[in-house]
Amino acid sequence: MNITNEELKQAVRNIPNFPIDGIQFKDVTTLFQDAERLKSVSENTYRLYQDKGITKVVGIESRGFILGSIIALKLNAGFIPVRKPGKLPASVIEETYEKEYGKDTIQIHTDALCEDDIVLLHDDLLATGGTMAAAYRLVKKMGVKKVYVNFIIELEELQGRKCFPEDVQIESLIKFPI
Ligand code: AMP
Repeated sequence: MNITNEELKQAVRNIPNFPIDGIQFKDVTTLFQDAERLKSVSENTYRLYQDKGITKVVGIESRGFILGSIIALKLNAGFIPVRKPGKLPASVIEETYEKEYGKDTIQIHTDALCEDDIVLLHDDLLATGGTMAAAYRLVKKMGVKKVYVNFIIELEELQGRKCFPEDVQIESLIKFPI
């Protein structure tokens, strides 16, 4: 039996003041630890992209690796990790972005994507949008055909969608205000 996105929303664990004071941390492990929820979160995401011709799913370190890999398998696509500096062993290209305190950098293997690829970018959660917007720029630099953007959870009041060009298709299964 399929679990709806509204029911999945009820199953997300909220942890106040983690990792720092003032953050309401949305814990997706409670979606992954139960077999029926894991199946439904995978199936509900797969349905959004099954007819898009996706050739590669790009997952963001580290929570984006979990559902990203499952979706890649279901879509018959490859899986590509985007990682923090110093983790990928071969030649990389990178993108740096502003965080609340200082800068951060993400990297992808130079040979991971080609111009024929239709890419699904995936992470667990959209907050301010800085991380995924940097991943979007990174993938665009590689000259791929099209890029879709997907999250399990979106924190709508943080308006992370504003970090992307208007024509980018962004989907999230579950929406919280913050
Ligand atoms: P941002 O770049 O602000 O959109 O932050 C997105 C990244 O930070 C994602 O990889 C999330 O896993 C993590 N993150 C940010 N805020 C939260 C939150 N409230 N709960 C869980 N993860 C978060």
